[in-house]
Formats: sequence, structure tokens, C-alpha cells
Amino acid sequence: MQLTNKISERLEKVKNDIAETAVRIGRNPADIKIIVVTKTATTESIKEVIRLGVTDLGENRLQNLKPVSDEIAEWMQQNRNELPELTKITWHMIGHLQRNKVRHILKISQIIHSVDTLRLAEEINKFSIRTEPKPQILLQVNCSEEPQKYGVPVGAAIHMAEQLATMPNLSLVGLMTMAPLTLNKDLVRACFMRTRELFEEIRISGAVGKEFRHISMGMSQDYTIAVEEGATMLRIGSAIFS
Ligand SMILES: *Cc1c(COP(=O)(O)O)cnc(C)c1O
Repeated sequence: MQLTNKISERLEKVKNDIAETAVRIGRNPADIKIIVVTKTATTESIKEVIRLGVTDLGENRLQNLKPVSDEIAEWMQQNRNELPELTKITWHMIGHLQRNKVRHILKISQIIHSVDTLRLAEEINKFSIRTEPKPQILLQVNCSEEPQKYGVPVGAAIHMAEQLATMPNLSLVGLMTMAPLTLNKDLVRACFMRTRELFEEIRISGAVGKEFRHISMGMSQDYTIAVEEGATMLRIGSAIFS
């Protein structure tokens, strides 16, 4: 029971922080979606956030996504009347993805934040010919230019976005980035600002459609900075679960 209370309090705090930050800078909190990242959570904790009304969950590995989403789906079937009406979970794939996993991922997740090569996008496009609605993808950008990080370099992102936008069976809905692992908030902010600028540049380039409207950035350590810099999706795990 103690655990339960803590999760609800933490989730409430995260939501309040987001709302306060948004209002302070003149954004509508309703334009900002929390994706609750479950990779470190127990299934009991995941059930708890679903009971609290969370419908967007994120995983970074297929090995976790598959068993966890199966278990949650079964539990939801059996506990319909305990849950907020018409609860439907959207699983977000947020981690690095190998091409040979694409087919399996698409059975569970229709929104993939971590697309960072043309070949990966082509694979998603290939397996989505008859998928309706089309799977949504975000182009992952390496805003900090750290060599060990995934994501396309900032300088290559516009060209890559143009190419992804021509693929008929998927929908390019925005950009995703991860800030450098640092306590230096200026570095984090600079990274988010760069991603936001890139987003605007791509948006007005004419290469992408109206559906290009998301910036997925901000995690437990930096989500308020991300809200200030224009994030529309926050990926938050440990601030809620640990
Ligand atoms: C784990 C993870 C998160 C969430 O990180 P926290 O610090 O636990 O909030 C966000 N995005 C990605 C890609 C992750 O792998």
C-alpha cells in the first residue's frame, strides 16, 4: 500500500511541475504528454499507474516490451471494471532498435521515437503496407553531438527528415532527442534549444506535413527544462517509479 501511495504522489508531483512550468511560460499543459517509461518498473507498479489514468507507456527494448505488454493486456481484460472507462494503452518504443526487430515491434508499438537511420525507416515502411492508421515515427537527433550516442547529427537531420517524409506507409510526426548526462543545466538546455530550432526549420521547410508536430525530449532529471524549450512529449521513468 505504501508503494502505491508513493507512486500516485510522485506522478502527481510530475504533473504539477509540468503544469506550473507550462503556465509560467504561456504554454497549455494539455499540449504536453507524459510517456511513463516502465523499463525499471514492476508489473504491479505499471498496473498502478494505469489505474491512475496513465495510457501512454514507454519501453526501450523489445525483450521487455513483449512480455510486459502481454501481461498488462491480459490483466486489463480481466479487470476492465476496475479501470477508467475505455482505457487503451499506447506503447511507445523509445530505445535503439535493430532492423531485424521491426516486424515484432510493430505488432505492439505504433509509435517509434528512436528512428535514426534511413534503413531502419525503410524497414518500418516495408512492414506497414497495409497498416491503418500508419505507424508514427520520430527522427532521433543527437543534439549533444557526443560520439557514443544514437541519433542523426544535427547537420544531417533536415535531409533525413525529407527522406522519411516521402515514405508512404509511415507518418513522420516529429523529433526525439536525449540530453547529455550531466548536471550542467545550461548544456541540457542548449541541447533542447538546438532540437527545437531544428524542429522549426524542418517544419517550415515544406518537406513535412501537418502531422510533424512533436518534440519528444525531457526525462526525470530535466523535464521542466524540456517543457520550457518546447517539448510536447516527455519520457519519464525513475521520477515516478523509484
Ligand atoms: C529510460 C529512458 C527514459 C526515462 O529515463 P528516466 O531518467 O528514468 O526518466 C527516457 N528515454 C529513454 C530513451 C530511456 O531509455
